[in-house]
Amino acid sequence: MKIYITLDYEIYFGENHGTVEKCIIYPTSELIRIGEKHNVTFVFFVDCGFILKLAEYRIKYPALEKDYKLITDQVKELSEKGHDIQLHIHPHWEDSFYNGEKWIINVNRYKLADFSDDDILDIVKRYKKVISDITGKKIFAFRAGGWCLQPFSKLYSAFKKENITLDSSVFRNGFFSSPQYAYDFRNAPDKDIYKFETDVVKEDPAGTFTEVPISSVKNSPLFFWKLFLLGRKDPYMHKPLGDGRAMAAPGYRKKLLTRFTNNPVSVDGYNSHLLNRSLKRLKKANRQHMVVIGHPKALSRYSLVMIEKFIAANKSENSFSTFEKEFLK
Ligand SMILES: [Zn+2]
Repeated sequence: MKIYITLDYEIYFGENHGTVEKCIIYPTSELIRIGEKHNVTFVFFVDCGFILKLAEYRIKYPALEKDYKLITDQVKELSEKGHDIQLHIHPHWEDSFYNGEKWIINVNRYKLADFSDDDILDIVKRYKKVISDITGKKIFAFRAGGWCLQPFSKLYSAFKKENITLDSSVFRNGFFSSPQYAYDFRNAPDKDIYKFETDVVKEDPAGTFTEVPISSVKNSPLFFWKLFLLGRKDPYMHKPLGDGRAMAAPGYRKKLLTRFTNNPVSVDGYNSHLLNRSLKRLKKANRQHMVVIGHPKALSRYSLVMIEKFIAANKSENSFSTFEKEFLK
Protein backbone atom coordinates (compact mmCIF):
# COMPACT_ATOMS: atom_id res chain seq x y z
CA MET A 1 0.00 0.00 0.00
CA LYS A 2 1.11 3.53 -0.77
CA ILE A 3 0.19 5.72 2.18
CA TYR A 4 0.07 9.49 1.77
CA ILE A 5 -0.13 11.56 4.93
CA THR A 6 -1.32 14.94 3.66
CA LEU A 7 -1.50 18.13 5.70
CA ASP A 8 -3.41 21.30 4.89
CA TYR A 9 -0.94 23.94 6.08
CA GLU A 10 -2.96 26.96 7.29
CA ILE A 11 -4.20 29.08 10.20
CA TYR A 12 -7.83 29.07 11.40
CA PHE A 13 -10.53 31.03 9.58
CA GLY A 14 -12.98 31.66 12.43
CA GLU A 15 -13.35 34.75 14.66
CA ASN A 16 -10.06 33.85 16.35
CA HIS A 17 -7.61 32.85 13.62
CA GLY A 18 -4.79 31.87 16.01
CA THR A 19 -1.05 32.45 15.69
CA VAL A 20 1.31 31.26 12.98
CA GLU A 21 3.63 29.76 15.61
CA LYS A 22 1.01 27.56 17.27
CA CYS A 23 -1.23 26.76 14.28
CA ILE A 24 1.53 26.04 11.80
CA ILE A 25 5.18 26.27 12.80
CA TYR A 26 5.32 24.21 16.00
CA PRO A 27 3.06 21.29 14.95
CA THR A 28 4.81 21.11 11.56
CA SER A 29 8.23 21.03 13.24
CA GLU A 30 6.98 17.97 15.17
CA LEU A 31 6.05 16.34 11.85
CA ILE A 32 9.50 17.16 10.47
CA ARG A 33 11.01 15.45 13.52
CA ILE A 34 8.86 12.32 13.03
CA GLY A 35 9.66 12.28 9.31
CA GLU A 36 13.39 12.44 9.96
CA LYS A 37 13.33 9.79 12.65
CA HIS A 38 11.48 7.27 10.46
CA ASN A 39 12.78 8.41 7.10
CA VAL A 40 9.33 9.17 5.68
CA THR A 41 7.97 12.22 3.87
CA PHE A 42 4.57 13.89 3.88
CA VAL A 43 2.50 16.00 1.48
CA PHE A 44 1.84 19.60 2.52
CA PHE A 45 -0.98 21.48 0.81
CA VAL A 46 0.09 25.03 1.51
CA ASP A 47 -2.48 27.82 1.88
CA CYS A 48 -0.89 30.08 -0.74
CA GLY A 49 -3.43 32.88 -0.44
CA PHE A 50 -2.21 33.49 3.11
CA ILE A 51 1.42 33.78 1.95
CA LEU A 52 0.37 36.30 -0.69
CA LYS A 53 -1.52 38.37 1.89
CA LEU A 54 1.48 38.27 4.25
CA ALA A 55 3.71 39.43 1.40
CA GLU A 56 1.32 42.28 0.69
CA TYR A 57 0.95 43.53 4.30
CA ARG A 58 4.41 42.80 5.75
CA ILE A 59 5.84 46.07 4.48
CA LYS A 60 3.39 48.06 6.58
CA TYR A 61 3.25 45.74 9.61
CA PRO A 62 6.55 44.35 11.00
CA ALA A 63 4.73 41.62 12.98
CA LEU A 64 3.69 40.14 9.66
CA GLU A 65 7.23 40.25 8.34
CA LYS A 66 8.04 37.73 11.07
CA ASP A 67 5.11 35.47 10.14
CA TYR A 68 6.03 35.70 6.47
CA LYS A 69 9.61 34.65 7.17
CA LEU A 70 8.59 31.81 9.51
CA ILE A 71 6.28 30.35 6.89
CA THR A 72 8.43 30.80 3.80
CA ASP A 73 11.49 29.42 5.67
CA GLN A 74 9.55 26.39 6.88
CA VAL A 75 8.02 25.63 3.47
CA LYS A 76 11.51 25.81 2.00
CA GLU A 77 12.88 23.53 4.72
CA LEU A 78 10.07 21.01 4.14
CA SER A 79 10.76 20.95 0.42
CA GLU A 80 14.52 20.56 0.91
CA LYS A 81 13.89 17.65 3.26
CA GLY A 82 11.91 15.83 0.55
CA HIS A 83 8.37 16.63 1.68
CA ASP A 84 5.98 17.34 -1.15
CA ILE A 85 4.71 20.93 -1.35
CA GLN A 86 1.48 21.33 -3.33
CA LEU A 87 -1.35 23.76 -3.92
CA HIS A 88 -4.13 24.50 -1.42
CA ILE A 89 -6.51 27.30 -2.36
CA HIS A 90 -8.64 29.28 0.07
CA PRO A 91 -9.77 32.07 -2.24
CA HIS A 92 -11.51 33.98 0.58
CA TRP A 93 -8.07 35.59 1.16
CA GLU A 94 -8.93 37.75 -1.87
CA ASP A 95 -11.58 39.51 0.23
CA SER A 96 -9.73 39.48 3.59
CA PHE A 97 -7.36 42.04 5.12
CA TYR A 98 -5.19 42.86 8.14
CA ASN A 99 -6.40 45.70 10.36
CA GLY A 100 -3.14 46.27 12.24
CA GLU A 101 -4.07 43.79 15.00
CA LYS A 102 -5.63 40.78 13.37
CA TRP A 103 -6.86 39.33 10.12
CA ILE A 104 -10.41 40.26 9.21
CA ILE A 105 -11.47 37.15 7.37
CA ASN A 106 -14.35 37.47 4.96
CA VAL A 107 -15.73 34.10 3.84
CA ASN A 108 -18.60 35.38 1.70
CA ARG A 109 -16.77 34.00 -1.31
CA TYR A 110 -15.38 30.81 0.21
CA LYS A 111 -15.37 28.58 -2.88
CA LEU A 112 -13.22 29.06 -5.97
CA ALA A 113 -16.39 28.58 -8.01
CA ASP A 114 -17.81 31.77 -6.40
CA PHE A 115 -15.39 33.82 -8.52
CA SER A 116 -15.53 34.78 -12.21
CA ASP A 117 -13.69 32.68 -14.80
CA ASP A 118 -11.00 35.36 -15.20
CA ASP A 119 -10.55 35.65 -11.43
CA ILE A 120 -10.27 31.86 -11.08
CA LEU A 121 -7.47 31.68 -13.64
CA ASP A 122 -5.69 34.64 -12.02
CA ILE A 123 -5.97 33.08 -8.53
CA VAL A 124 -4.74 29.64 -9.62
CA LYS A 125 -1.83 31.24 -11.46
CA ARG A 126 -0.70 33.55 -8.63
CA TYR A 127 -1.24 31.02 -5.83
CA LYS A 128 0.68 28.37 -7.70
CA LYS A 129 3.54 30.74 -8.52
CA VAL A 130 4.09 31.86 -4.94
CA ILE A 131 4.94 28.31 -3.80
CA SER A 132 6.81 27.22 -6.91
CA ASP A 133 8.99 30.33 -6.40
CA ILE A 134 9.75 29.16 -2.84
CA THR A 135 10.44 25.48 -3.62
CA GLY A 136 11.72 25.73 -7.20
CA LYS A 137 9.77 22.54 -7.90
CA LYS A 138 6.83 21.66 -10.10
CA ILE A 139 3.40 22.20 -8.58
CA PHE A 140 0.80 19.87 -10.12
CA ALA A 141 -1.43 18.62 -7.29
CA PHE A 142 -4.37 20.34 -5.63
CA ARG A 143 -6.55 20.19 -2.55
CA ALA A 144 -9.55 22.49 -2.38
CA GLY A 145 -10.08 24.65 0.69
CA GLY A 146 -12.94 23.14 2.69
CA TRP A 147 -13.23 20.40 0.01
CA CYS A 148 -15.10 22.92 -2.16
CA LEU A 149 -14.17 22.25 -5.78
CA GLN A 150 -17.58 21.83 -7.31
CA PRO A 151 -18.80 22.49 -9.87
CA PHE A 152 -15.38 21.49 -11.24
CA SER A 153 -16.47 22.59 -14.74
CA LYS A 154 -15.93 26.18 -13.45
CA LEU A 155 -12.29 25.39 -12.57
CA TYR A 156 -11.61 23.14 -15.54
CA SER A 157 -9.96 25.51 -17.99
CA ALA A 158 -7.82 27.29 -15.33
CA PHE A 159 -6.50 23.95 -14.07
CA LYS A 160 -5.77 22.81 -17.60
CA LYS A 161 -3.93 26.02 -18.45
CA GLU A 162 -1.89 25.90 -15.24
CA ASN A 163 -1.11 22.18 -15.52
CA ILE A 164 -2.74 21.18 -12.27
CA THR A 165 -3.42 17.54 -13.14
CA LEU A 166 -3.97 15.74 -9.85
CA ASP A 167 -6.64 16.40 -7.24
CA SER A 168 -7.00 14.99 -3.76
CA SER A 169 -10.11 16.69 -2.36
CA VAL A 170 -12.84 14.07 -2.78
CA PHE A 171 -13.78 11.65 0.00
CA ARG A 172 -16.39 9.06 -0.77
CA ASN A 173 -19.92 9.74 0.42
CA GLY A 174 -18.89 13.12 1.83
CA PHE A 175 -21.72 15.64 1.75
CA PHE A 176 -22.22 19.04 3.34
CA SER A 177 -24.23 22.04 2.37
CA SER A 178 -24.36 25.50 3.91
CA PRO A 179 -24.52 28.95 2.30
CA GLN A 180 -20.73 29.40 2.10
CA TYR A 181 -19.57 25.91 2.16
CA ALA A 182 -20.70 22.94 0.06
CA TYR A 183 -19.51 19.66 -1.35
CA ASP A 184 -21.25 16.55 -2.56
CA PHE A 185 -19.19 13.40 -3.08
CA ARG A 186 -22.07 10.95 -2.66
CA ASN A 187 -21.76 9.81 -6.27
CA ALA A 188 -17.97 9.53 -6.32
CA PRO A 189 -16.60 6.26 -7.72
CA ASP A 190 -15.79 3.63 -5.10
CA LYS A 191 -12.11 3.64 -6.11
CA ASP A 192 -8.79 4.74 -4.67
CA ILE A 193 -7.73 6.35 -7.97
CA TYR A 194 -9.55 7.37 -11.17
CA LYS A 195 -9.43 9.77 -14.10
CA PHE A 196 -11.95 12.53 -14.66
CA GLU A 197 -12.59 15.41 -17.01
CA THR A 198 -15.15 18.11 -16.12
CA ASP A 199 -16.91 16.45 -13.17
CA VAL A 200 -14.72 15.41 -10.24
CA VAL A 201 -17.09 12.65 -9.12
CA LYS A 202 -17.55 11.13 -12.57
CA GLU A 203 -14.94 8.71 -13.83
CA ASP A 204 -13.68 9.26 -17.37
CA PRO A 205 -10.91 6.80 -18.32
CA ALA A 206 -9.68 9.22 -21.01
CA GLY A 207 -9.81 12.22 -18.64
CA THR A 208 -7.06 14.83 -18.23
CA PHE A 209 -7.14 14.77 -14.44
CA THR A 210 -6.31 12.13 -11.85
CA GLU A 211 -8.28 11.92 -8.62
CA VAL A 212 -6.59 10.28 -5.66
CA PRO A 213 -9.41 10.60 -3.12
CA ILE A 214 -8.89 11.01 0.58
CA SER A 215 -9.76 7.67 2.18
CA SER A 216 -13.13 7.69 3.85
CA VAL A 217 -14.41 6.29 7.13
CA LYS A 218 -17.91 5.91 8.52
CA ASN A 219 -18.13 7.18 12.10
CA SER A 220 -20.81 6.49 14.66
CA PRO A 221 -22.09 9.40 16.77
CA LEU A 222 -20.47 7.66 19.74
CA PHE A 223 -17.03 8.27 18.24
CA PHE A 224 -17.55 12.04 18.29
CA TRP A 225 -19.04 12.01 21.80
CA LYS A 226 -15.82 10.31 22.88
CA LEU A 227 -13.72 12.80 20.91
CA PHE A 228 -15.40 15.84 22.50
CA LEU A 229 -15.35 14.32 26.00
CA LEU A 230 -11.66 13.46 25.79
CA GLY A 231 -10.94 17.09 24.88
CA ARG A 232 -12.52 18.10 28.18
CA LYS A 233 -11.13 15.29 30.30
CA ASP A 234 -7.54 15.44 29.15
CA PRO A 235 -6.97 18.71 27.30
CA TYR A 236 -3.17 18.38 27.52
CA MET A 237 -3.21 15.31 25.26
CA HIS A 238 -6.37 15.93 23.27
CA LYS A 239 -6.75 19.65 22.66
CA PRO A 240 -5.60 20.88 19.23
CA LEU A 241 -2.12 22.44 19.22
CA GLY A 242 -3.43 25.36 17.16
CA ASP A 243 -4.76 28.31 19.16
CA GLY A 244 -7.62 29.50 16.92
CA ARG A 245 -11.19 28.54 16.09
CA ALA A 246 -12.64 27.06 12.92
CA MET A 247 -15.09 29.02 10.82
CA ALA A 248 -18.75 28.37 11.49
CA ALA A 249 -20.25 25.35 9.75
CA PRO A 250 -23.91 25.49 10.78
CA GLY A 251 -25.32 22.15 11.91
CA TYR A 252 -22.07 20.28 11.38
CA ARG A 253 -21.32 19.40 15.01
CA LYS A 254 -24.89 18.39 15.68
CA LYS A 255 -24.85 16.10 12.66
CA LEU A 256 -21.69 14.37 13.91
CA LEU A 257 -23.18 13.81 17.36
CA THR A 258 -26.54 12.48 16.25
CA ARG A 259 -26.06 10.23 13.23
CA PHE A 260 -23.61 8.07 11.31
CA THR A 261 -21.44 10.26 9.08
CA ASN A 262 -18.86 9.69 6.37
CA ASN A 263 -15.62 11.50 7.11
CA PRO A 264 -12.11 11.60 5.72
CA VAL A 265 -9.53 9.36 7.36
CA SER A 266 -7.59 11.89 9.37
CA VAL A 267 -4.62 12.42 11.68
CA ASP A 268 -6.33 15.38 13.37
CA GLY A 269 -6.78 14.86 17.11
CA TYR A 270 -8.66 11.75 18.17
CA ASN A 271 -9.37 10.80 14.52
CA SER A 272 -5.84 9.38 14.49
CA HIS A 273 -7.21 6.60 16.72
CA LEU A 274 -8.70 5.04 13.56
CA LEU A 275 -5.57 4.96 11.37
CA ASN A 276 -4.72 1.28 11.80
CA ARG A 277 -8.32 0.17 11.51
CA SER A 278 -8.72 2.14 8.27
CA LEU A 279 -5.52 0.70 6.81
CA LYS A 280 -6.69 -2.86 7.55
CA ARG A 281 -10.05 -2.22 5.94
CA LEU A 282 -8.45 -0.75 2.81
CA LYS A 283 -6.08 -3.70 2.51
CA LYS A 284 -8.97 -6.10 2.79
CA ALA A 285 -10.62 -4.26 -0.11
CA ASN A 286 -7.38 -4.60 -2.13
CA ARG A 287 -6.79 -0.86 -2.32
CA GLN A 288 -3.37 0.43 -3.42
CA HIS A 289 -3.60 4.01 -2.15
CA MET A 290 -4.45 5.30 1.29
CA VAL A 291 -4.74 9.08 1.56
CA VAL A 292 -4.94 10.54 5.07
CA ILE A 293 -5.77 14.20 5.65
CA GLY A 294 -4.69 16.42 8.54
CA HIS A 295 -3.98 19.97 9.56
CA PRO A 296 -0.96 21.02 11.67
CA LYS A 297 -3.34 23.32 13.62
CA ALA A 298 -5.67 20.41 14.49
CA LEU A 299 -3.00 17.94 15.59
CA SER A 300 -2.87 17.13 19.29
CA ARG A 301 -0.16 15.58 21.44
CA TYR A 302 -2.21 12.40 21.25
CA SER A 303 -2.34 12.47 17.46
CA LEU A 304 1.42 13.06 17.17
CA VAL A 305 1.97 9.91 19.25
CA MET A 306 -0.53 7.99 17.10
CA ILE A 307 1.03 9.18 13.81
CA GLU A 308 4.45 8.04 14.96
CA LYS A 309 3.11 4.66 16.13
CA PHE A 310 1.24 4.19 12.84
CA ILE A 311 4.38 4.90 10.81
CA ALA A 312 6.63 2.73 12.99
CA ALA A 313 4.22 -0.22 12.81
CA ASN A 314 3.55 -0.04 9.07
CA LYS A 315 6.58 1.41 7.30
CA SER A 316 8.26 -1.92 6.50
CA GLU A 317 5.23 -3.43 4.73
CA ASN A 318 3.99 -0.24 3.09
CA SER A 319 5.44 2.84 1.52
CA PHE A 320 4.76 6.25 3.04
CA SER A 321 4.95 8.24 -0.15
CA THR A 322 4.09 11.55 -1.79
CA PHE A 323 2.24 12.60 -4.94
CA GLU A 324 5.45 14.03 -6.36
CA LYS A 325 7.19 10.64 -6.01
CA GLU A 326 4.33 8.56 -7.42
CA PHE A 327 2.71 10.75 -10.05
CA LEU A 328 5.03 13.47 -11.33
CA LYS A 329 6.35 12.43 -14.72
ZN1 LIG B 1 -7.75 24.44 4.15
